[in-house]
Amino acid sequence: MDSEAIIDLSNLLNRLPIIPIAKRNDTFRNTAGVSSQLSRFLWSLKYNEKHANIGRIFTIIYEEYKERPGELHEIAQAIRRNESVIRQVGFGASEEADGFPEGAILCHLHRHLEHQQGFQFKNRVAQCAICCVRVDHIYGSLPNVQFLEPHLLVPPTEISPDMTYVEEYFIMVCPNCHSILHQIRPWRNRKTYVNILQTL
Ligand SMILES: [Zn+2]
Ligand SMILES: [Zn+2]
Repeated sequence: MDSEAIIDLSNLLNRLPIIPIAKRNDTFRNTAGVSSQLSRFLWSLKYNEKHANIGRIFTIIYEEYKERPGELHEIAQAIRRNESVIRQVGFGASEEADGFPEGAILCHLHRHLEHQQGFQFKNRVAQCAICCVRVDHIYGSLPNVQFLEPHLLVPPTEISPDMTYVEEYFIMVCPNCHSILHQIRPWRNRKTYVNILQTL
């Protein structure tokens, strides 16, 4: 990459809302950093060995897209193309309320905790904790298809930075049940979530 392209990329990474501003230091994604990360990545490719001082995300993305570089390019192009829109969508924009009576900010936080914590759990279950639907009963066995979503049972108004969101705080649910759980109040906890089902 020539120096103009490095400057352009560094500027773009600084403009995009990828890392909270409070977590950025003075050298955040500056040209020197971007340039050295890219050279280390090229070094890793050349010697087929991960450079010690390179972000893990480089390897993850490379492994995922090495056979399909065109798709990665399309993603990058879409981000560049939509930059002005992306920058207008703030944390907890109104469209993120997603049925939450508590509003967009707490909904965003709830979703964030689910994504950050929930997908790392070891206990993979096959059926929705509410309606018991099983993806393999409908679609057969589809490798790598993530159907169930982790749902955080802690009520939005009780979320606190002091909490550690261990696996017991979550249930795995299908997208339909997840959407309903987000909209009904009082918030369902571990004892009451099954009551959501209508019993004839
Ligand atoms: Zn369900
Ligand atoms: Zn949820």
